Amino acid sequence: SVPLSFFGGIGGASKSGVLVKGSNYLEALANTELVVVDKTGTLTKGSFAVSEVYSDQFSQEELLKWATYAEDYSSHPIATSIKKAYGKTIHTAKIKDVEEIAGHGVKAVVEGKEVLAGNAKLMNLKHIAYKDTASVGTVVHLAVDGKYAGYIRIEDEIKQDSRQAIIALKEAGIKQTIMLTGDSDAVGRKVAAALNLDKAYTELLPADKVERVEELMQKKSEKGMLAFVGDGINDAPVLARADIGIAMGGLGSDAAIEAADVVIMTDEPSKIATVMKISKKTLRIAR
Ligand code: ADP
Ligand code: MG
Repeated sequence: SVPLSFFGGIGGASKSGVLVKGSNYLEALANTELVVVDKTGTLTKGSFAVSEVYSDQFSQEELLKWATYAEDYSSHPIATSIKKAYGKTIHTAKIKDVEEIAGHGVKAVVEGKEVLAGNAKLMNLKHIAYKDTASVGTVVHLAVDGKYAGYIRIEDEIKQDSRQAIIALKEAGIKQTIMLTGDSDAVGRKVAAALNLDKAYTELLPADKVERVEELMQKKSEKGMLAFVGDGINDAPVLARADIGIAMGGLGSDAAIEAADVVIMTDEPSKIATVMKISKKTLRIAR
């Protein structure tokens, strides 16, 4: 039977803005030794600002237009940022054959031309020679009808709360904090260094994230739990695979919230440590 204090623990967590979907997760949270975190939308705001538009073939507005049309059906934070920067009405009748290529970008037929918008991996995949760019921010390359068209540079910001979140995890007794991201090595390393994370794995495809978590699950001690924290649609398989899946519910996708065992109702990653501390206290009372 479930000790009465466990209900208090779940109630206490919910007052702090964290939904724990079952009393068994309190115990797992209290015994967590590894916290694995997704970057975009979890540690960073996930709402990017466009800082540069480059093309030697189109005007900046034209390039933004191609990108906006190609990204129209995507709900990725990158797509949202590009659409916002373009800011004009979209004629969806001009868009056909949309394909989202996970961890790479998008492909769509716009006004009869095939448009690719995504990272260097996507350009390599489609054999498009792209311009090498300075490693600041996230670069979205564009190709129109098989020809390189330019790039859009966008920059994400670390959440104000993230630094404190990592410090609090160490205080709560977490042995290792590890970041997983599909973003470039340059961007990933910068965020990991700024936040003092123990480890960062970058340029991962969604399937690579699952694989990394599986590896880490095998390496950890038997009673030490692994918690994964994420917010995106792509994160659902990883959330399901970890001992405890924690979704950032503030802006998180429905798929992530559904797949998670614990949901943080705000966009503050420091709540991860908060709920771990509450769980430890609850277990001490129960014993
Ligand atoms: P993460 O959440 O770890 O940053 P994702 O798997 O969502 O990773 O995306 C990884 C990378 O794939 C992004 O950094 C970006 O380069 C590229 N990408 C994904 N979706 C899009 C999109 N809709 N438009 C352009 N690039 C994209
Ligand atoms: Mg993500």
